[in-house]
Amino acid sequence: MCHTLPDAFYPNRQNRNVHAMSALSAAPLSIVVPLYNEEENVGPLVERVHEALAEYGAPWELLLVDDGSSDRTVAEARGMREHFGTHVRPVPLTRNFGQTAAMQAGIDLARGEVIVTMDGDLQNDPVDIPRMVDRLLREDLDLVAGWRRDRKDNLWLRKVPSRLANRLIRRLTGVNLHDYGCSLKVFRGEVIKGVRLYGEMHRFIPAWLATQTAPSRIAEEVVTHHPRTAGTSKYGLSRTFRVLIDLISVYFFMRFSARPAHFFGLLGSGFGLLGGLGMAYLLVQKLLGHDIGDRPLLLVSILFILIAVQILTTGVLSEMLSRTYYESRDVRTYHLPARFDREGENDAFHMPRHAGSERGENREM
Ligand code: UDP
Ligand code: MG
Repeated sequence: MCHTLPDAFYPNRQNRNVHAMSALSAAPLSIVVPLYNEEENVGPLVERVHEALAEYGAPWELLLVDDGSSDRTVAEARGMREHFGTHVRPVPLTRNFGQTAAMQAGIDLARGEVIVTMDGDLQNDPVDIPRMVDRLLREDLDLVAGWRRDRKDNLWLRKVPSRLANRLIRRLTGVNLHDYGCSLKVFRGEVIKGVRLYGEMHRFIPAWLATQTAPSRIAEEVVTHHPRTAGTSKYGLSRTFRVLIDLISVYFFMRFSARPAHFFGLLGSGFGLLGGLGMAYLLVQKLLGHDIGDRPLLLVSILFILIAVQILTTGVLSEMLSRTYYESRDVRTYHLPARFDREGENDAFHMPRHAGSERGENREM
């Protein structure tokens, strides 16, 4: 592998042969940490990352994304850059955009072949990083997700809702992980750079990836989890609801984004069929001489037919929207492997024997 990154990217330059010493495989690495009012945690975090990566056998950088903190988080991050070197990169966002957006900012700026995301409150432990990176590289995976098997958070406010949410996500997305919410995740850079994150979506990245790569390229690894010792958690119970709402949109997007008309078509036809049957029945009654003007079924049938028309037209609209979406952004309805090699693109077709000479002769004639 040839590394052509700037000098600042080589915190381990003085001991380059660590590669030989440690058995773990390594590749250029970017660690992305979103920080929102974590002034007490920045220093210890940067120190711990350095301890954990002391033996890391490839260049690495640490992106400290400040998510519009109102305390001294940015100043602390800049201080750490002064102290440790330019591989520590503060990324000050203009205001608070939320954890997911902050992660996205860091991912966009990351230059490593492997990208790690983690929390900046020291609840995740950087000690797990080299092992997870090693697994990603050795088993040729696209994602190694952390699993906080022994999670140190409030039981009723955090652990129970999270357990329910995890089960639901597992069921709906068909990706078999235990802990979607764990921020400590290790990605293959080129894969995660192809994903756009919105809302509280960072926990759905595994599900999202599973729509682009084989589920077998996603693995999980038990990680250490510590209680928060400084600063405060930025979330409460309300996040669970936001996660649920995002789950619904992720589910629909995953299932139906390419052919929304399938979903709306099915639903609309169902209503149309019921309404039509009701009307047909009433028509027969009318022909038999009964009075149908005051039948509740008449109202219900009309309602169902109207609903059917509504849903079917929505289906057509969403189909058009989805085409615009796919065509305007060059998003594909399929995905090639990230390392699909383009070899062969310029090669010729297989030609019938003597094709060249025959054509030549034809032209002469
Ligand atoms: N965070 C952020 N922007 C926000 C909220 C949180 O960047 O608007 C960061 C926060 O500083 C921390 C990480 O996201 O590094 C996780 O947040 P927190 O520890 O509050 O979440 P919890 O661990 O309680 O789920
Ligand atoms: Mg936390």
